[in-house]
Amino acid sequence: MTRRFDAVVVAAGAHTKRLLADAGVRVPLKPYRVQALVSGRAYDGPMWYDASAGVYARPHPAGLLAGDGTVPVEADPDEWARDADDWFRDDAGAVLRDRAGHDPAVERAWAGLCTATPDGDPLLGAVAPGVYVAAGWQGHGFMRAPATGEAVAALVLGDEPPVPGVEAFDPERFDGDEEFEISEGMTVETDGPD
Ligand SMILES: Cc1cc2nc3c(=O)[nH]c(=O)nc-3n(C[C@H](O)[C@H](O)[C@H](O)COP(=O)(O)OP(=O)(O)OC[C@H]3O[C@@H](n4cnc5c(N)ncnc54)[C@H](O)[C@@H]3O)c2cc1C
Repeated sequence: MTRRFDAVVVAAGAHTKRLLADAGVRVPLKPYRVQALVSGRAYDGPMWYDASAGVYARPHPAGLLAGDGTVPVEADPDEWARDADDWFRDDAGAVLRDRAGHDPAVERAWAGLCTATPDGDPLLGAVAPGVYVAAGWQGHGFMRAPATGEAVAALVLGDEPPVPGVEAFDPERFDGDEEFEISEGMTVETDGPD
């Protein structure tokens, strides 16, 4: 069955590339696994991110939550390992003991999919007349979600002036077939000296 709509927003996370490909639209997106664990041992320290180790942690109702265990390899969005890897449990545990004096009692550990783009910025805008994409949030999708929702709504409604800055995320800055490496979603880049 075919149905017509005035506008379609494709915000299908890791499935976005395949879904759009079915409609003949190419976007440069790669799903990749990131991991997290919950420790049941009490933790009353601050929230932190160790950029050298690539590990973050924060207090959690059960004790402590830690991540990020990025696997910078394109994952199949229909077939990927949901359980955390042993190396992630071991590495994160070592960092937690070393940096925070926290010896984790792991209650749960899991993986989920994030989506990478060539420049680490999202794809937010029109990819065909009446077809919009909102994907490629690397490891920052929750944090950006409220502003994203407003920006997508404004785009669909054709609001003028457009949401300031949204043009930087225009998917048409790419051809769609770019080759690129997956960068960890927490990595912060600056224009300053190394
Ligand atoms: C372990 C882990 C920790 C994270 N921690 C943080 C954090 O602390 N802060 C932060 O900001 N971000 C974090 N992220 C990243 C965040 O989860 C993502 O950036 C965000 O979920 C992306 O949102 P999304 O809507 O693009 O995709 P998703 O959340 O993946 O949602 C896409 C939805 O589309 C649905 N869908 C797929 N195909 C179809 C289809 N054909 N039709 C209809 N629906 C479809 C899916 O079922 C899914 O519900 C973390 C991710 C992981 C895995």
